Amino acid sequence: MGTYAITGSASGMGAAAVARLRADGHTVITVDIKDADVVADLSTSDGRAAAAAQVLTACDGRLDGAVLAAGLGPSQGAERLRMIATVNYLGVVELLERWRPALAAAANAKVVVIGSNSTTTTPAVPARAVRALLAGDVDKALRATRLYGPGRPAMVYAASKIAVTRWARRHAVRPEWAGAGIRLNVLAPGAVMTPLLQEQLDNKRQARFVERFPVPVGGYGQPEQLAEWMRFMLSDAADFLCGSVIFVDGGTDSLFRRDDWPRPVPARRIIGYVQRFRGRG
Ligand code: NAD
Repeated sequence: MGTYAITGSASGMGAAAVARLRADGHTVITVDIKDADVVADLSTSDGRAAAAAQVLTACDGRLDGAVLAAGLGPSQGAERLRMIATVNYLGVVELLERWRPALAAAANAKVVVIGSNSTTTTPAVPARAVRALLAGDVDKALRATRLYGPGRPAMVYAASKIAVTRWARRHAVRPEWAGAGIRLNVLAPGAVMTPLLQEQLDNKRQARFVERFPVPVGGYGQPEQLAEWMRFMLSDAADFLCGSVIFVDGGTDSLFRRDDWPRPVPARRIIGYVQRFRGRG
């Protein structure tokens, strides 16, 4: 049995993952702004540092895995926009950077970052906002979305999820992650019936958008279904899974982007990596 840290554990998909892993007999250290072993506000730098440190103490420096599920959905208001960017992006990457040695200590750890299908189904997300987040500059990211009016929350949300997904893919393949036995992957849900989605459905404007959004299989996902995917991505079945983004979204990503992917890599880039990996055995 393993020891896992789960953020966003008090509600929705995080709570479902906690229940799933505990039912399997694992030890789970929960992290949330309320109702958790480690109560911390991941929208603040101090909160993220405290959450990271308290988990490291609780797991005695060895983590078999983690699920990063804490997050906020799109909603208006300057303070809220900042929280979406900080919790959804910094609340993942700062914790994982601090937990990496404990994950490496387990030799075969697995990490699941909860992304979103908003990454590929939201049009016109400003690339500058994504680049700014990847550089850790939340103010610049927010400035890059300021002209989007009522669509701004969706832009900030999608930018935060694109940035965290890219961060995961960039790091997953590095020697300090893949080479240290850590498997870092992203689960990208579509609309899943949780309090986060309910908040959108309670807002007239957003509800119209959510309800009309094309989902080939129809309806919404359930948090327990997503928890099963997390469990699988934390198991030995994921030993060969590295830097992947798994869409569980009822088919919307395939519907919108059916011919965009898979797309072959440019030959020049392959040659560069072949040279870099030569000799690593
Ligand atoms: P949820 O609202 O049920 O759970 C989110 C959890 O994050 C809550 O327990 C909340 O307290 C916690 N959280 C929020 N702000 C925090 C903070 N400042 N500090 C610490 N914890 C904080 O939502 P959910 O739908 O289960 O969302 C889980 C993840 O899935 C999120 O990252 C969300 O963006 C993502 N997601 C959700 C959907 C969906 O339709 N529900 C779709 C795609 C992606």
